[in-house]
Amino acid sequence: MTRFTTALLLAFALVPTGRAAAADKLKIVTTIPDLADMTRQVGGDLVDVTSIATGVEDIHAVPMKPSFAVLLNGADAVVVVGLDAEHGFLPGLLEASRNPKIQRDQPGYIDTSVYVTPLEVPTRIDRSLGDQHPMGNPHINLDPVMGKDMVRAIADGLIRLDPAHESTYTANLATYTAKLDAAIARWEKEAAPLRGKKLVSYHPDLLYFAERFGMEPVGTIELRAGVDPTPSHIEQLEEQMRRDKVDMVVRELHYPAGLAETVAQATGTKLVELPVMAGGLPDTKDYISFVDHNVRTMLEALKGS
Ligand SMILES: [Zn+2]
Repeated sequence: MTRFTTALLLAFALVPTGRAAAADKLKIVTTIPDLADMTRQVGGDLVDVTSIATGVEDIHAVPMKPSFAVLLNGADAVVVVGLDAEHGFLPGLLEASRNPKIQRDQPGYIDTSVYVTPLEVPTRIDRSLGDQHPMGNPHINLDPVMGKDMVRAIADGLIRLDPAHESTYTANLATYTAKLDAAIARWEKEAAPLRGKKLVSYHPDLLYFAERFGMEPVGTIELRAGVDPTPSHIEQLEEQMRRDKVDMVVRELHYPAGLAETVAQATGTKLVELPVMAGGLPDTKDYISFVDHNVRTMLEALKGS
């Protein structure tokens, strides 16, 4: 036996038995960092999680890299927001991954939208018009109560793939859900001043957040989800904003600053810049701090106006 193999055998012998060795862990790839955090909360030591997006991207158009296909090729599961949020990049990546376990409708495809009833479901879909929300508004991660539904769907998926550890996943789910419940109770109290406030955003990312905290979304800078604004649309929007006395314009950080600034200035409205997923800013490393950041930033903007 060479010294190298002896060292290797020793190294394996030293792996604590209560904890899964790296090779035994479920390899999970998530589309966005919110899902990576949630999967780590539920999976604990039993999972090895990587996110495709870092948090600064547009969820409808995450730039593809060959390394993502390699990552997915070796994955036991892929965790997605669902409602076709990822339709701009995920179908191509799944095909390139050549991994039958993680294709849509397979056990290794974990769709976190299964417990959510989406809003803005179109009665007619015309993708030629550039519609980005064919199954309704998919931006469910911005509402922490929907976040709880997403975590539950992740637990279902992990138990489906690894039933031997069901009790661990169930216990971790309960712990994290309690943590989210406590945070939600705090946010609902803190966000009271947001109630009744009107907002315009660049894209309808804030729909579920607004619903949760009693805000009123009155329009978007985009003509429709995924469709660039026209001058006449901006003119009408500004008129409506003056008439309705809109309280804030939200620019989701991956959209261009210029137009949102112009609209805010022309109407004398406060401009607020927000990430739409965890990881988008240094103080939004996990899901709870991401929601925290958005609640706090909106409150600060109102105070300053
Ligand atoms: Zn969207």
